Amino acid sequence: MKRVFNFSAGPSILPVEVLKRAQNELVSYKDTGMSVMEMSHRSKVYQEIFDKAQSLLRKLMNISDDYEVLFLQGGASSQFAAVPMNFSQGNKCLYVDSGAFASKAIKEAKRYADVKVVASGKDSNYNYIPMDFEIDQEAAYLHITSNNTIFGTSYSTLPDTGDVELVADMSSEICGVKRDVNKFGLIYAGAQKNLGPAGLTVVIVKKSLLDNPLGITPNMLNYSVLAKGSSMVNTPPTYSIYMAMLNFEYMLENGGVAGAEKRNVEKANMLYNVLDDSTFFMPVAKKDFRSIMNVTFTLPNDELTQKFVKDAGAIGLVNIKGHRSVGGIRASIYNAMPKEGVEKLAQFMVDFERNN
Ligand SMILES: *Cc1c(COP(=O)(O)O)cnc(C)c1O
Repeated sequence: MKRVFNFSAGPSILPVEVLKRAQNELVSYKDTGMSVMEMSHRSKVYQEIFDKAQSLLRKLMNISDDYEVLFLQGGASSQFAAVPMNFSQGNKCLYVDSGAFASKAIKEAKRYADVKVVASGKDSNYNYIPMDFEIDQEAAYLHITSNNTIFGTSYSTLPDTGDVELVADMSSEICGVKRDVNKFGLIYAGAQKNLGPAGLTVVIVKKSLLDNPLGITPNMLNYSVLAKGSSMVNTPPTYSIYMAMLNFEYMLENGGVAGAEKRNVEKANMLYNVLDDSTFFMPVAKKDFRSIMNVTFTLPNDELTQKFVKDAGAIGLVNIKGHRSVGGIRASIYNAMPKEGVEKLAQFMVDFERNN
């Protein structure tokens, strides 16, 4: 069987071990005689999978009982609307514009709430995260994108918001970088980068913030309704949750988030070291804001970029083309990317520079 090193930004690589565990019980789960895909979400056996997934994520991220963990659908993008609908109530909603997804979140929030963009990195095509701004203490929340997938930037320290709730889109770093959940009012993430297949959206929300949504909020975006219904107001993405459960188990067996972060830092440093030693490749993100999940860089011209992508593909390093708004190369090295894949890419970069 052929496996490549898949550097896709999302949906992304999953651990082979997790895929094999799923394969083992794909046709008949334990002694049920049916696949998890075929089960009623109301069945006892499925409820056990669901509860286990939630408790494993709580353990992984050290989530206290002050928070609800919701397993939803609609992607991180549906949370762009849900956050202002649930939390604004006539108050100003603050946003940091640190990239493409942050801008989308802002655009969507403006439809429902009084939005103030406190800072933007747009003037330099988002190669850094603006950290210098005032926080109006009357505001409902400050929204950040903790890892900017397209540009390869991330927060090494979180902004100090005082009494204002911090809300974060953590789609591309959740469980890959240690974050103290207690610092956040709400965290959301699409699962398809670090957690599992597409279809599952994770929301971690402080219980004290529930019960005050705008009247127009649809039930399926209403955190209070979803929490009261234990994320089973309608059919949840059953198989995606099962896959995430297997992945959570695997992460816990491999040192949890701290273990993953340590490996991710090592992997990222391999690539950044090559970039820093090079006069050929140019890193996109400014040093203080480098992501350990998405490493972005450019080459001297388009022709060389195309050759790089093609030659890398020929040796099994795939999906490394940068997003069109940045150009160049993006290597997404999420938790499941093995060290060997990154070593191979680093060596390929050194060789490519020498030969071109
Ligand atoms: C991928 C991504 C999204 C979009 O997620 P969907 O689940 O496709 O809606 C939003 N924000 C960030 C930071 C992402 O990386």
